[in-house]
Amino acid sequence: MTVLGIETSCDETGLALYSAADGLLAHQLHSQVDTHALYGGVVPELASRDHIQRVLPLAQACLEEAGLQRGDLTGIAYTRGPGLAGALLVGASVARSLAWAMNCPVLGIHHMEAHLLAPMLEPDPPAFPFLALLVSGGHTMLVQVAAIGRYEVLGESVDDAAGEAFDKTAKLLGLPYPGGPQLEALARQGDPQRFRFPRPMTDRPGLDFSFSGLKTAVVNTVREAGTDAQTQADVARGFQDAVVETMAIKIRRALKHTGARHLVVAGGVGANQALRDRLRDVAEAEGAQVAYPRLAFCTDNGAMIAYAGHCRLAAGEQDRDDVDVRPRWPMSELQAPGPAAAP
Ligand code: ATP
Ligand code: MG
Ligand code: FE
Repeated sequence: MTVLGIETSCDETGLALYSAADGLLAHQLHSQVDTHALYGGVVPELASRDHIQRVLPLAQACLEEAGLQRGDLTGIAYTRGPGLAGALLVGASVARSLAWAMNCPVLGIHHMEAHLLAPMLEPDPPAFPFLALLVSGGHTMLVQVAAIGRYEVLGESVDDAAGEAFDKTAKLLGLPYPGGPQLEALARQGDPQRFRFPRPMTDRPGLDFSFSGLKTAVVNTVREAGTDAQTQADVARGFQDAVVETMAIKIRRALKHTGARHLVVAGGVGANQALRDRLRDVAEAEGAQVAYPRLAFCTDNGAMIAYAGHCRLAAGEQDRDDVDVRPRWPMSELQAPGPAAAP
């Protein structure tokens, strides 16, 4: 089976081809960062319009990269949700049109399931069951994964997502959107001793997260300490250390609680090297192995959609004719792959 994956949930147009026999055959990405940077955040209408222009040329580029023709496709997968409604509709419409033309099955994929499965594309994939930390622009979740489609959410953010906290703090420090990677670079020049920000919700039991108080602490600090270059770097360092340490505490707790031997860290914030290094140490101390997607597959991409699509399409799952996109879609609604799981 050769599956074309189409990701258009937010501000990246990602296309990829995955085959059972040969793995990932091609992947292409267009990021709209420059378009939205002018506005300091994603403008949904601009995102939809840009996806419309990019998606077919990128699909064609994938076919060329893999040396395949449209007729070689035997399945199409697209991101059904969660995400921006208009942006999701672009991917869904193109996917269904292509599938109709090719007379092959099509399936809408849950974006966070795809993030969670992204490390499966690496040479040494994690074994089920595993614990997954999903840290992206819109989500912060700790998920116990028994198998594909069998997810138990153990904890999540009660307010801002981790990536959102990075982006808002970066904005506060005058860094261009999206601030996560820029804040990480700035933090490298920062003094870890100068500011100690709170580690939210670590002083009580449970696996939920909260980042809005941390953001407020940063706002107050910047107001008092000013914004000279060194102070900015010191604030960036203090903020990043607080996020990383909070995650480390929760992960240690979750590993102890579940006895999991494998930890997956996925989503855009998983690209953060300080977080990677710290969680590797925590996992090792608990006797667990940690798996990450390659950096390019931490943030949004088509490869993870093609892979998740392949897993489900190969099990006989496909969309009915009347499905719609799901801008909000709780992960707990997912089921193990198979014909009966079709949405
Ligand atoms: P969701 O997947 O929840 O719908 P999203 O798709 O927008 O949200 P991703 O593409 O997975 O999120 O990740 C983007 C987020 O990751 C942004 O908030 C970005 O700032 C953050 N991010 C990317 N690289 C880094 C980094 N090195 N350090 C910290 N944050 C980062
Ligand atoms: Mg994005
Ligand atoms: Fe994402």
